[in-house]
Amino acid sequence: MSKQYNPYDNVLKVVKNAADVLGFSDSDIEAIKYPERELQVSIPVRMDDGSTRVFQGYRIQHSTSRGPAKGGVRFHPAVNADEVRALAAWMTFKCAVVNIPYGGGKGGVVCDPNELSENEIRAITRRFTAAIAPLIGPEQDIPAPDVGTNAKVMGWMMDTYSMLKGHCIHGVVTGKPIELGGALGRNEATGRGVMFTTKNMLKKAGMDMAGTTVAIQGMGNVGSITAKLLHQEGMKIVAVSDVSGGIYKPEGLDIPAILAFLSKDRKNLLKDYDEDGLTRISNGELLELDVQVLVPAALENQINEGNADRVRAGIIIEAANGPITAEADQILEKKGITVVPDILANAGGVVVSYFEWVQNIQSVSWTEESVNAKLKEIMDPAFEAVWNIAHENDTTLRMGAYLIAVKRVVDAKQARAIWP
Ligand code: GLU
Repeated sequence: MSKQYNPYDNVLKVVKNAADVLGFSDSDIEAIKYPERELQVSIPVRMDDGSTRVFQGYRIQHSTSRGPAKGGVRFHPAVNADEVRALAAWMTFKCAVVNIPYGGGKGGVVCDPNELSENEIRAITRRFTAAIAPLIGPEQDIPAPDVGTNAKVMGWMMDTYSMLKGHCIHGVVTGKPIELGGALGRNEATGRGVMFTTKNMLKKAGMDMAGTTVAIQGMGNVGSITAKLLHQEGMKIVAVSDVSGGIYKPEGLDIPAILAFLSKDRKNLLKDYDEDGLTRISNGELLELDVQVLVPAALENQINEGNADRVRAGIIIEAANGPITAEADQILEKKGITVVPDILANAGGVVVSYFEWVQNIQSVSWTEESVNAKLKEIMDPAFEAVWNIAHENDTTLRMGAYLIAVKRVVDAKQARAIWP
């Protein structure tokens, strides 16, 4: 891919289009075009070999108009300021579309967890947390897992922040280990939300879950749980991929066997997995397969003007943040492909993060059944609202989601008025 896509430009284009439909003036949306606060930090770490390396990190708060900033922390070599900015803004609109009382933020550290030892990852996490400590807190900004981070990292963040403050503060991060106040159901929440969304979408399209073919790009937390739950619902998962490439089997893959193989060792990759009848494909080829449903669950800009024309799926569920560029969106729309946007489809994670934070603040704990049921109570009406507004306005589901989200953010901003 030669062209450089700036995902933050993508966000601004969509917000502007939504504002035009809503009748908001440039002045109404001027403030939400800029992240409220950005912090770049240098993180010195003593490596296992005794050398010192300095990693770059970011925490960006796009908006706190509707509540504290909320959003994950990404550990990945491609992290940069524009990416974190875009991810922060998507969090603002994601929290707005499902109507939970948060703004949006995101953090990231430029590093490759696959090349680091656990000690080194913990050292990065602790020093990063200390560096962004002035910005975060249960009432200011609440980090969570994202690409390359997990519950263990959240446990270290919570501990570091608590040590700095001198007392135990559960609510500073979500997606924590259960023993530190993590919510039951949080680990599976994003994938479960994607499953609810897929179910809702297929129902609208008059299709059954059973036997419908799916390809999933990405086998991280979101991709793997999505695969597990869609498989349980009877969908036929014909292709999956990870950083090492993809595997394709038209009769349907043995998802439980694949998940067992990948979870055995964090170094296991699909290139080393085998079952009868597999064809090895690239990540790019996976996106162009003749399937009914495509679920990009990896990184941004995967479907762009270079390959959008070759996408054959009828429905795309955006489990990743920003997997489709603005140019590609237009191409897909012309081709009649229905896209369920990220800010709706993958909101399950942050919704259950919200439940975790509510439990932490009240020092209570809910059962997994009640968490899953409450998640459904939020995801199903949010889908219905987006579907209805999109159809009333004869527009895409992405625009429908932004019509709801931008209105909520601008209304909150206007109700507060500009200080001073
Ligand atoms: N990283 C997830 C997302 O992009 C979850 C964020 C959260 O739970 O705060 O939505």
